Amino acid sequence: MTIIEQILILLVLSPLIYLGVRNMWLANKSSATIEGKPRYWLQMVCHDCDAKVGELHEPGCDMERCPICDPTDERQLITCGHYDEVMKGDIPRIPYIQRLVHCSVCNELYPDFFNVPDEEWDKYVIPMLQHKVLCRPCYDAMKRLFPDGWRNSFRSET
Ligand SMILES: [Zn+2]
Ligand SMILES: [Zn+2]
Ligand SMILES: [Zn+2]
Repeated sequence: MTIIEQILILLVLSPLIYLGVRNMWLANKSSATIEGKPRYWLQMVCHDCDAKVGELHEPGCDMERCPICDPTDERQLITCGHYDEVMKGDIPRIPYIQRLVHCSVCNELYPDFFNVPDEEWDKYVIPMLQHKVLCRPCYDAMKRLFPDGWRNSFRSET
């Protein structure tokens, strides 16, 4: 077969290949629906270790959460100190499920992570938001709303 012939065959086949890939993709999409509604999270993979939704992370993946620590704290298993204990196998490990993370105030999706000292967080963020995710601009807005902290904002001056 000459190179020209090979190129011609490829040209003829390419729409078929394209359609095949596209159909696979569509089939995949429809398998990620529940009661007809798309549930794309079912197809996501852990961006760190490539675990599929519902699978366990590769040991040492920093996305794996600790099953022993308080779940509202979302502690990383590799840093919380329980790694060896959990890997012994007696405690069920937490499989990967992709969740949306958004600012609890403005709803921004996947806001940038930032760090503030605990005392500051406690001072400016009202109690029911303290264990939630806030984006930096919303946190800064709270500091402007309560320059002396929320506890002191409405205290009568006596
Ligand atoms: Zn992972
Ligand atoms: Zn832990
Ligand atoms: Zn926000």
